[in-house]
This record gives sequence, structure tokens and C-alpha cells, in this order.
Amino acid sequence: MPVPKAELHLHIEGTLEPELAFALAARNGVDLPYADTGALREAYRFQDLQSFLNLYYELMAVLRTERDFEDLADAYLARAAAQGVRHAEIFFDPQAHTARGVAMGTVVEGLWRALERWGSPRSSEAESGGEETHGVSTRLIMCFLRDESAESALATLDAAKPHLHRITGVGLDSAEVGHPPAKFREVYEAAAALGLRRVAHAGEEGPPEYVTEALDVLGVERVDHGLRCVEDPALVARLVRDRIPLTLCPLSNVRLRAVDTLADHPLPEMLDAGLLCTVNSDDPAYFGGYAGDTFDAVRDTLGLGPERLRELARNSFLAAFLDDDEERRSRYLAEVEAYVFP
Ligand SMILES: [Zn+2]
Repeated sequence: MPVPKAELHLHIEGTLEPELAFALAARNGVDLPYADTGALREAYRFQDLQSFLNLYYELMAVLRTERDFEDLADAYLARAAAQGVRHAEIFFDPQAHTARGVAMGTVVEGLWRALERWGSPRSSEAESGGEETHGVSTRLIMCFLRDESAESALATLDAAKPHLHRITGVGLDSAEVGHPPAKFREVYEAAAALGLRRVAHAGEEGPPEYVTEALDVLGVERVDHGLRCVEDPALVARLVRDRIPLTLCPLSNVRLRAVDTLADHPLPEMLDAGLLCTVNSDDPAYFGGYAGDTFDAVRDTLGLGPERLRELARNSFLAAFLDDDEERRSRYLAEVEAYVFP
């Protein structure tokens, strides 16, 4: 079994594998402009951010009913559990669905059905071939699309109000440059007043100033990506001092060209600097691997040894929104310390 870990940066829409996309398209009578799953798999080898986003939004057309969202989350959790994920904080993008006429409740309740089922250990009847599979504890984080307006974000928060008992926090994602965190000050203040936790993508393609702004203006508790903080020593010192977690996504950084190759990724230096780094899969169907694959890749390519891998696993639970269940966090942390790396 792989090392136990939490996944804290995962877009559920980015887990849509070609096979499931075709199955849902058939179920919903949606025409996909690809001959078969092989042709679609080929399209997943996009060249840049824009071709990725075009495909990403095009495929969302197959997600229409509660059952579709349930099946999507179910497929992700099965893969994640098999790769050692014990706790997952799952992002979803309501605006990408409400803009297509799919109601907020359809998205949240559909996802929730799968999350609820995976909350306890799976029985040996599971299709995993009789093997006992761990349950996965989960949290839902609702993200605002930062290339949409601040008003649209406020309307989205408003539409989520009947479902807030299912939602732990808010986040901010999609195209970063030109959409600084401060644009969303008002909706983050409103979210905080509702008791929601706050995270935001910052410093992926945007400058280190966006990370500072996310902390100061939006009050985020965790920074998604945050990669470009390394360009600002004062910011690094602050992130270390305040123990602000970063949810790094090394495979995503390679595919979206934030770094040239995985070997160029600054993760080892960031750990050496004392940053509270975690590694995550972001949009695993598109970026070449799930959480365990990501751990394997940084081990093999960046030469991280067992104690560094243990640190990453430990950090993932330290950074998780498990404040309402510290007993569970302690249990997960004890599993990490007891784990023997092969
Ligand atoms: Zn992301």
C-alpha cells in the first residue's frame, strides 16, 4: 500500500477520464467530436493552457445529472483510495455548470452521494477484486472562476446557501494573470462571515504579489500552487514563519509549462527552505497522474528520499481542514509515522 496521504488540490472536473466521458455522453445523448476514447485520449495531449481549457470546458457538457456527478466523484475516490489517499479536499467549479443550465443543487448533491459512500471503509465486495479498501474522508471546496466577474462569484455564493452544510470552504481558480485576488475581496469577506474556510490559487502563472494579496486581502489559510513565492525571499520567510501550507502540483506545472521539466521543479529547495509543501494532482486525468503517481514522480525525478516523502505526507494532513476532527488527523499522522517505505 502506498504511503497514506491527503489530497488538498484536486478539481473534480479534472478527473474526467475519456472512458467515463464517453459513457456519460452516451447516457445523456451528448455528441462528442471524437471518434472514440483513443481519439479523445489523444486530445488530452494538449500543447498549452488554452487548448487544455478549451477541452476541459467542452467535456463538461457530458455532466448533467446528479448521477453523473456522483459517478465522477466515485471514479476519482476509487483511484485515489488505491493510491493511498485517506482524506481528499475536493474542488468543484459551480459556475462551469450553472452557466450550462445545471443547478447548483444537482452538482453538490450528486458529488455528496459519492463522498458519503466513501466516508467509511469499503466492503470486500468492491470491484477491487476482494481487497479491503480504506474509506476516504472528504471536504468540498467551492471555487469561483477568477476570469468571471466578482458579481458572478457573489451570485454563486448566494446560490450555494441552501447547501452550505455540505461545503467546507471557498477557493479561486482558472486563468490567473489579469485577475488579481483583490477582485474577490467582497465574496471572500462574505464567505468568511458564513464560517467558510478560505483558499485560493495564487503564484502559479501570476506573480508573487498575488500570493501576498491572497493572504492579506482574501485571508486565505492555504495557498494553492504558490510556486512563484520562490521569487520573493521576504514572502518565503513569511510563509515559513506563519506555517502557511502550499498545495503544489508538480505534474500540472510541467504540463502547463510553469516549469520546463519535472527535474527543474523547485520542490526540494522549497522543502529545504522550510516551506510547508504538499504535493497534489490538480487535474489528474489531464496532467498525467493521480496523487500516488505524483509522489512516485517526485521520488524518481527529484530524488526525494523516504524522509522527504514522509514529510510531504505528514504536511498533507497538517494542512488539511480537519480541525473539526483532530482525533482523525492524529490517527492519519500516526499512520504516516509508522509507514515503512519500500
Ligand atoms: Zn488547480
